[in-house]
Amino acid sequence: MARATYPGKCQFCQGEFPKGRMTRHLRACEKRKAALEKSEKKGRKKQAIFHLVVEGRDRPMYWLHVETRAGSTFGDLDLFLRDIWLECCGHLSNFTFREEDFDEDDFDNFEGSSPFGPPGSKVTAKKLADRVKPGDVFFYEYDFGSTTALKLKVVGHREGVMKKGDVQVLARNLPPEIACDCGKPAVLVCTECMWDEAGWLCKSCAKNHECGDDILLPVVNSPRVGVCGYTG
Ligand SMILES: [Zn+2]
Ligand SMILES: [Zn+2]
Ligand SMILES: [Zn+2]
Ligand SMILES: [Zn+2]
Repeated sequence: MARATYPGKCQFCQGEFPKGRMTRHLRACEKRKAALEKSEKKGRKKQAIFHLVVEGRDRPMYWLHVETRAGSTFGDLDLFLRDIWLECCGHLSNFTFREEDFDEDDFDNFEGSSPFGPPGSKVTAKKLADRVKPGDVFFYEYDFGSTTALKLKVVGHREGVMKKGDVQVLARNLPPEIACDCGKPAVLVCTECMWDEAGWLCKSCAKNHECGDDILLPVVNSPRVGVCGYTG
């Protein structure tokens, strides 16, 4: 069997490339160059911009390339990640900067955020550039019960024109093709069988699924597919 390449699409030229080649493509993409030149002609002041790759820590087939200003905050990034991939019921989330900090039971150094939580001296108010630099890897988790964990890497930086707080998607993985046991494409996933890496169901098999149909969730293009109440 061919090695999984987790292909995705460039948002500028709509070209499809394997995950491992997208960084190189984005540097060379003519359509992207044209878009950047256009945004810079407006003569606004240039700022440092970070290029980030985000992926599911345990589900690397889900990935994004994004850009945001180095002066954007972790809170801006948190909102973006919730919006595009994660938000189901306003769970807490957290950024960590060393893999050994990545421990669900360790709340001593808790720097969590929540749209409903109290604001304060949290990491969400800090600027990206205060904690990370190009080359750095850091982590994010959403929901400390049924956690979705992400890995982020600053793969590049440039000087350019962008609004503070904006997060722009440069490229995104194509929806992985997941098959039901019968061979047809899965459209629903069972939140119980999911724990055993099973439960991907086509429409007709879903009707007869032994766990019942009230615990099925739609198959969506997100590392949180099949978790909690996430419907995309
Ligand atoms: Zn392109
Ligand atoms: Zn939830
Ligand atoms: Zn089931
Ligand atoms: Zn089926």
